[in-house]
Amino acid sequence: AKKAVLGPLVGAVDQGTSSTRFLVFNSKTAELLSHHQVEIKQEFPREGWVEQDPKEILMSVYECIEKTCEKLEQLNIDISNIKAIGVSNQRETTVVWDKITGEPLYNAVVWLDLRTQTTVENLTKRMPGNNFIKSKTGLPLSTYFSAVKVRWLLDNVKKVQRAVEEDRALFGTIDSWLIWCLTGGINGGVHCTDVTNASRTMLFNIHSLEWDKELCEFFEIPMKILPNVRSSSEIYGLMKAGALEGVPISGCLGDQSAALVGQMCFRDGQAKNTYGTGCFLLCNTGRKCVFSEHGLLTTVAYKLGRDKPVYYALEGSVAIAGAVIRWLRDNLGIINSSDEIEKLAKEVGTSYGCYFVPAFSGLYAPYWEPSARGIICGLTQFTNKCHIAFAALEAVCFQTREILDAMNRDCGIPLSHLQVDGGMTSNKILMQLQADILYIPVVKPSMPETTALGAAMAAGAAEGVGVWSLEPDDLSAVTVERFEPQINAEESEIRFSTWKKAVMKSMGWVT
Ligand code: ADP
Repeated sequence: AKKAVLGPLVGAVDQGTSSTRFLVFNSKTAELLSHHQVEIKQEFPREGWVEQDPKEILMSVYECIEKTCEKLEQLNIDISNIKAIGVSNQRETTVVWDKITGEPLYNAVVWLDLRTQTTVENLTKRMPGNNFIKSKTGLPLSTYFSAVKVRWLLDNVKKVQRAVEEDRALFGTIDSWLIWCLTGGINGGVHCTDVTNASRTMLFNIHSLEWDKELCEFFEIPMKILPNVRSSSEIYGLMKAGALEGVPISGCLGDQSAALVGQMCFRDGQAKNTYGTGCFLLCNTGRKCVFSEHGLLTTVAYKLGRDKPVYYALEGSVAIAGAVIRWLRDNLGIINSSDEIEKLAKEVGTSYGCYFVPAFSGLYAPYWEPSARGIICGLTQFTNKCHIAFAALEAVCFQTREILDAMNRDCGIPLSHLQVDGGMTSNKILMQLQADILYIPVVKPSMPETTALGAAMAAGAAEGVGVWSLEPDDLSAVTVERFEPQINAEESEIRFSTWKKAVMKSMGWVT
């Protein structure tokens, strides 16, 4: 059969906490042509610890690329049309590896891991002024960010200490690990990251866009192990192996930034909420660094080219969203797959007064309360697994409501609707509940893979690639699904205030 004639194509690696995907888009129409997805194992070696195997993550990327290319060939699409690859990744997750052997020196310490609680307490005592870290990085000192994870590795893992002393250690978030490996690893791999990922390490100065010497001294992290910081859209290097050998990797964005780009939130005040393992609401604040008065983070949104300006965002981060569904599947076994939650919730259509605060990793925004732990409350003899399923979905919506309220207070202009994406948004009950609880419409693009799309856009638009135009005119034709609020605001308020009571009960479990 004759090969289909298409414009240039762009691939995107979407390496998330739950899974890895590789997707290929048509750069002229943004149409998704093919993809492949592999679930990633999570290890919980101790209470509060969350690890992943960096090698498994890397292999999953290769597997997804190979399988997607096979699928494209079956569709008669010539893979030589793929002109660039973008990388988007779970942020903050920390890898330290040996540049001589190419081997990771420890498992990846995942962003929601809590092992660094004592590290954080000790650092808090030593902090030269309350605003020291926040004013430079936009972040509160928390277990969430990479610097404390690196500190922990240096304090607790002999192999890491030794490799640093012997000048063999490299640090990176998942983007750096992947790009280093994909561009050749021990044979000339490129050790870099982009400004969005760097802004989540707590070592990066978001004003000067450089690693901050004072922060590195404070955390006692040697600067020689840090990757080079680049823009989110430029050629970093070429694929060294596999079906796409020789294709440039030319886009790199932390997953939440990638989703912001993929949702075309390029203007001041535009926002999106992504429902994956956690939930992340980002609002573009343009070229201004806005500091929150209400528990939100200030973060780098994107910098789409070496000579392009940097854009910032306010971010509300919720640690546990889809993870609560995975927990109901893996730990309680009340569902066999994530999508079964919808059926259970639908059976009852209410939590019947049951509230589920999934503070498994403490509470992130707007509370930043590491002492919180999960609770299920308001139980009666009548409560069954369907009500708990419903309460779990409702929890995701309430947490988003808290973030949105904080965002509206910080920005002054309330959002008129919420743009959403992520794995959980296939759940229609969740989307309707969200509209009801926010009392504004929830709007979902019909092509839900916005994270990958954002990474592909950055890669395709890079200097030297130039197959994707980021002019806003090209970006308007996105079809969407809308969920309008259906319950009255008063009912919504009553439920929300009971939720807040439940949140108060979840705090102070760990002292
Ligand atoms: P990540 O980017 O963090 O890897 P994804 O965007 O891939 O996450 O979303 C996966 C998460 O969404 C998982 O935690 C899973 O439990 C949850 N999820 C997937 N499908 C559904 C569904 N139909 N209803 C509720 N949650 C779901």
